[in-house]
Amino acid sequence: MVRHRAFRDPSVLLGAIRDLIPAHTYFSTAYYQEPTAAMEEKGWKGADLVFDIDADHLDTPCKPSHDKWKCKACGTVGNGGAPRICPKCKNDRMEEQTWLCDQCLRQAKEETTKLLEILYSDLGVEPSNLRIFFSGHRGYHVHVYSTQLQVMGEEERREIASYVLGQALDPQLHELNEVNVGGVKVIEGPQLGQPGWRGRMVEGIYDVLSEEGERLGLSPAQVKTIKTQDRDEFFKRPFWSSVKGFGLSTWKNLSVKAVDRRSAKIDTVVTTDVHRLIRLPGTLNGHTGLLTMQVPRERLDEFDPFRDSLAFHGEMRVRVKDAPQFRLAERQFGPYLNEEVELPSYAAMLLLCKRRAEPVI
Ligand SMILES: [Zn+2]
Ligand SMILES: [Zn+2]
Repeated sequence: MVRHRAFRDPSVLLGAIRDLIPAHTYFSTAYYQEPTAAMEEKGWKGADLVFDIDADHLDTPCKPSHDKWKCKACGTVGNGGAPRICPKCKNDRMEEQTWLCDQCLRQAKEETTKLLEILYSDLGVEPSNLRIFFSGHRGYHVHVYSTQLQVMGEEERREIASYVLGQALDPQLHELNEVNVGGVKVIEGPQLGQPGWRGRMVEGIYDVLSEEGERLGLSPAQVKTIKTQDRDEFFKRPFWSSVKGFGLSTWKNLSVKAVDRRSAKIDTVVTTDVHRLIRLPGTLNGHTGLLTMQVPRERLDEFDPFRDSLAFHGEMRVRVKDAPQFRLAERQFGPYLNEEVELPSYAAMLLLCKRRAEPVI
């Protein structure tokens, strides 16, 4: 690792990258008086507020089909995302073999969209002070550049992360309550269109009630009630008090699920860190050979990471050990098992970077 470097202008940086040919290039989100000094002598002036959304932290249903893990201590293996500790020996050192997939990246983009909405409408971030980047692997980064926010310490950043995640949000502190109206117990709650988590909580209720009731922890009678409701009618009026058999504890439970649905699944560690190193936009990600690149806000919807971030031209011959089926540009590749193939260079580079193939010379 080469660290603590500073460059006066982009051409010098480019020269250094060409000399070193690093597999991964990061820059510091922090601003320092003396960037090249030792860590404790740099003179921290502030740091951009950054968010990382990565499929590693998302619970997508496709993971068991493309990710594997192995416990470094006892060798236990499994499909899907690695558990925090090994179920057999309780060790926390895991080796992961991940893959890129459309569904995981669509989910990551959806989380990014939710994050942007919260930043704009609740935290007053100006769209012109924000940039979105594809990480070149399994997610997106959002950088906020603001002189007011730059000076925040870890505690303040942790609060923002926690707000975005809707952590420990108590629906009863957001107007969900049981009141006594002339001897009758009535449930009251926030309304659609209210700012912040209140309106978002109501929107989330709409989302979760479209799911199977059994998965929501509802009783068979409650599931039946929901299924027979006219959806449009249901949301036209204050619905909290109008659903038969739904008391405060049911609504509380559904509200917590609604908040989870509407929260943006960011990596708290990245946002909280005031000395964070983050992938330099415009460089190749050594895990994939794909470009880490800015995605203009207005193009986020249509942005296709498997088409728009390809960097290599030409063809290459590789010997593939094993690889699942995957898509790049408009082409499908694989699955491959112990075979020699001629591929477009961007596909060959992905397999080489993922250590699923060897070059054939
Ligand atoms: Zn183990
Ligand atoms: Zn996936």
